[in-house]
Formats: sequence, C-alpha cells, structure tokens
Amino acid sequence: MAKDFSIFDQKMMQLALEEAKLAFNKEEVPVGAVLTLGDQVIARAHNTMETKGDPTAHAEILCIRKGAEAIGDWRLLGATLYTTLEPCVMCGGAMLLARITRVVWGAPDIRHGSNGSWIDLFEKKHPTHQLEIAGGLYEEEAANLMRLFFKDKGQNMKKTNFLLVELFDELIAFQETKLLNYAAEIIPNVTSDDILQPNDYDELENHPFFRYEEGVLKGIQTAKMAVLAKLRED
Ligand SMILES: [Zn+2]
Repeated sequence: MAKDFSIFDQKMMQLALEEAKLAFNKEEVPVGAVLTLGDQVIARAHNTMETKGDPTAHAEILCIRKGAEAIGDWRLLGATLYTTLEPCVMCGGAMLLARITRVVWGAPDIRHGSNGSWIDLFEKKHPTHQLEIAGGLYEEEAANLMRLFFKDKGQNMKKTNFLLVELFDELIAFQETKLLNYAAEIIPNVTSDDILQPNDYDELENHPFFRYEEGVLKGIQTAKMAVLAKLRED
C-alpha cells in the first residue's frame, strides 16, 4: 500500500475530516469525503444516513453524485476521491462504476471495509478500469473521531438506562400502592408485606383484578431487572 501522500493529498484529507466533523455534530457516524479533479474540489459531503433515513447516504456516494452533477458526466475519469474511512462495498463498487481514477482513505473499517479489512474489491485487476487506492492518510485523526463518536453514544445509552431504572422504580412504587389499596378493599387491615405473599390469602389469590395488577407489577420488575443487567454489562 502506497504511503507517500502529497501536500495536496493532505490538504484534501483535512477537508474530508472537516466534513466528518460536520457529520459528528449532527450525530451521524463521522465520515467525510472530498472529490477532486485536477487541483479543483468538485464535491464534498458527509454521511447523512440518520438525517435522511437513507442507508445509501454515505459520504462517498453523495460526493460521487454531486461530482457527476458538477461536471455533467457520470464518468469521473481523472478524479480523486478522499474519504476519512475505508470505503464499504457499496461505495467501492460505485467508485469503480464511476470510473474514478484514484481513492485515498483514512482509517480502516474492520466491519465493512472493501480494501482489505473485510474483503478486497480492488485486489484483482479490473478488466476495463484500473483504480489506484491507498489508505492510512490521517488514520489517527479519522479513527479518533469514530472512537469518540461511539464512546459518546455508549455514554448516552448509559444515561438513558439510568433514567429508565428511576422510571421503573416510580412505576413499581405506584403499582404497589395500587395493589395495596385493592387488597385493603378485599381484606381489611392488609399490610404491604401481605400483598407480597398473596398465596396466604385465597381472597387475593383468586381475585382476577388483583391477579391482573400483580402481573403488571411483575412485568415492570422484570423490565427493570433487564435494564439493570444491561447496565452491569457496560
Ligand atoms: Zn460506503
């Protein structure tokens, strides 16, 4: 893999990283891309999958579309695409179809990378089109952005789970009071300990509404335990 990148390459990858940061700020997976022809930037874009609800809205695809529109030709011969992440199979395929001449990427994508991390689309010589591809430019910066994004996401999930446990606690207290009130109507002087052992009271055990409300309580308790288990895993 060629590791010698020009000053121009570096500048273009910095632009792509700026695009990736724009995605980050929109809570999108931070991937950015820039398309150049000669010394001109003809398109730049970032991932907008979440915003658009579109699984194909990857930075590279959007860049290819904008670039083709800008030059009025779908053949992007002579163009170089800079992307902060190793392209996926979809984007790698689109790059070949668009006749892009050269691709430079930043950090490897272990799960979806099409240039060796998962599979290598570019390993074999293509019968009609040769694409030059090289990775690792500003790898640390691109990878850090990804790590930061997924760490943030994990922490947000943790906060949500803590809030859920609090909510479940409130629901459980509410439901216990409801059960106690029900039980008090059926058996005078019943205590909260009694309702936890309703088997001792046939009147409670056989009461359909009591049984139903008891089932609701157990459901909430089970849900709370599941969230607690998730929190312990993290
Ligand atoms: Zn892609």
